Amino acid sequence: MIALCIHGGAGDRTPSSDDAAICRALESALDAGWAVLESGGMALDAVQVAIGVLEDEPLFNAGRGAALTRAGTVELDAALMDGATQRAGAVIGVRSIRYPIAAARAVLEHAPHVVMAGEGAERFALAHGCEAVEPAFFVTERAQRALERFLAEQARVELGTVGAVALDIRGNLAAGNSTGGVTGKLPGRVGDTPIIGAGTYADRRVAVACTGYGEYFIRVGAALRLALLVELAGCPLEEAARQVLAKVSALGGRGGIIALDRDGTIAMPFTTASMARAWRRSDGTNGVELYAPASASTRA
Ligand code: ASP
Repeated sequence: MIALCIHGGAGDRTPSSDDAAICRALESALDAGWAVLESGGMALDAVQVAIGVLEDEPLFNAGRGAALTRAGTVELDAALMDGATQRAGAVIGVRSIRYPIAAARAVLEHAPHVVMAGEGAERFALAHGCEAVEPAFFVTERAQRALERFLAEQARVELGTVGAVALDIRGNLAAGNSTGGVTGKLPGRVGDTPIIGAGTYADRRVAVACTGYGEYFIRVGAALRLALLVELAGCPLEEAARQVLAKVSALGGRGGIIALDRDGTIAMPFTTASMARAWRRSDGTNGVELYAPASASTRA
């Protein structure tokens, strides 16, 4: 069995004219990651490739089009984890690396560290072949309008972080996430995305990528909590993911999780109105969805 599941962020999206373009972008990312898995490639590569496609797509809050800080700047976070070896790499607050997920990969492969931040992370990524761009490259009109709305209303605006989990032909799992964080965040704020065990985690049993109000996912140790519910409590994957979201809800947070296990079981619950997501397995199961299925509530 090979399997790939990606998300384009949990949020309070309502049906809009962007929906078709979002679904197309998710399909392109899925196709790119799937091509890696289908040709016998590693789950880690499939996750990186799928996320890279979404980082380039300005409709999502990652790479180009990312959410802006209160100061109108970008500070991008990304993480990647290889389940087979439990090696991980993450970057925090990068501003001039085109593909933050590639920077996370560089840390995973080459650094004596797991998480690197700011200028040091950027220098390290550049030294390992990552592509440089001017910070202005990431700033889109759409993200600027979202910041203006946030500053006017102090209301939380659309989330659109991206992430992926994959299972390769060798039975290895991987997880990754990439984000601009939340619109209007204070410069220096770090969410759950680049925190291994909070927003992103993979081991031999499960791969997990979370999206939503990062502060809450950090406080419950969301991704690792899910893995431990499976490993130590013998919880089925879907049940474990829902329990984690219930913990997040109990603190007042909302969001979603994509999780995959080594049998190819996929769980994608969320407690927001929407979570962009797409999935495919070698048994023919596949789909692309933005909202809760009409027939069943996915709210925790
Ligand atoms: N979890 C991300 C963060 O808090 C945001 C998101 O998933 O949309 O930075």
